Amino acid sequence: MITAQKIQMVDLKSQYEKIKLDVDKGIQEVINNTAFINGPAVKEFQKDLETYLNVKHVIPCANGTDALQIAMMALGLKPGDEVITADFTYVATAEVIGLLGLIPVLVDVKEDTFEISIEAIEKKITPKTKAIVPVHLYGQCCNMEAIMALAKKHNLFVIEDVAQALGADYMFADGSKKKAGTIGNVGCTSFFPSKNLGCYGDGGAMYTNDDELAAKLRMIAHHGQSKQYIHDVLGVNSRLDTIQAAVLKVKLKQLDNYAKARNNAADFYDKAFANHPKIKTPTRAKFSTHVFHQYTLKLNGVDRDKLREFLAERNIPSMIYYPIPLHKQNAFKSDRNKEADLPITMKLCASVISLPMHTELSNETLKFITDSVLEFCK
Ligand SMILES: *Cc1c(COP(=O)(O)O)cnc(C)c1O
Repeated sequence: MITAQKIQMVDLKSQYEKIKLDVDKGIQEVINNTAFINGPAVKEFQKDLETYLNVKHVIPCANGTDALQIAMMALGLKPGDEVITADFTYVATAEVIGLLGLIPVLVDVKEDTFEISIEAIEKKITPKTKAIVPVHLYGQCCNMEAIMALAKKHNLFVIEDVAQALGADYMFADGSKKKAGTIGNVGCTSFFPSKNLGCYGDGGAMYTNDDELAAKLRMIAHHGQSKQYIHDVLGVNSRLDTIQAAVLKVKLKQLDNYAKARNNAADFYDKAFANHPKIKTPTRAKFSTHVFHQYTLKLNGVDRDKLREFLAERNIPSMIYYPIPLHKQNAFKSDRNKEADLPITMKLCASVISLPMHTELSNETLKFITDSVLEFCK
């Protein structure tokens, strides 16, 4: 048993050890130059990410939540406008909708891929609907082709929440490919440490191919300033620290390797749990690669809390993403979002469990985890 070595949901320390020289050098350079705000590394990372994503504009900002908020401000969404997003997501997505006085319309997801349901979106479109926010949950894209078609038909903006799926490829029916977040009007991502491309603090970015929108995003992130001391619109102060950009420059080079390591771990899990009557492994969508921000199982006829306790006794962490749907949170209580319309989300909140997933999982550790889960779920 490898209980002596602490298994973590995300192991950032071992990952750091492998890139330590480059990261330390990058950080030291920023300190030597004392260019803490908007130093050269920010622009360099921006360019590197534009190239990686094959997108015209990357606008770095302070975190993923800000990215979503700035995107909604730049698109000119006004109080009372309805924005459709998934009920089964992290709070940040719907939080900024509410903060701006927009109305979060929370819809159900699909049981197999966890992606926002196209049929559910369509049912909730009204004359007040202005935007759809698909969340590429756990690292796999939503059905963007169907979402873009709906958006075109009803004249809606599409804001992709790519916080969990940076690096995933979306495959169109014609065989062409685009990176997650570069298909809608704007993609919003997070560099929170545990995300697939995580920095060593907070960070985020927006991306778009629209020149005019890019200029607005940049302006709003920078106090609504068009020229120095000229403020055309109300903005916010949202910047990516130079030190974080220096870390991200090093880690972006590893991102595809990191995705491979995560996929190897996912394959190991898949194999161990294949055809198990009580455990359903994550379904891979036909139109997307998976970057496995999370590896999330669905349990059937297993006491989830007891399983988590059993694993915890062996020092195996597990998490529930997410235990309570947004429409059940006091912050989002509204007559509009009814439990009867959200049966899959309710079911998933009660049955999902996420296992350790990161870039440093050895087969020995994976075997210990899967053996333990299987022992409990016999
Ligand atoms: C992490 C996350 C965010 C917010 O990112 P922060 O950088 O923490 O603000 C938004 N949406 C989803 C789906 C996330 O997982």
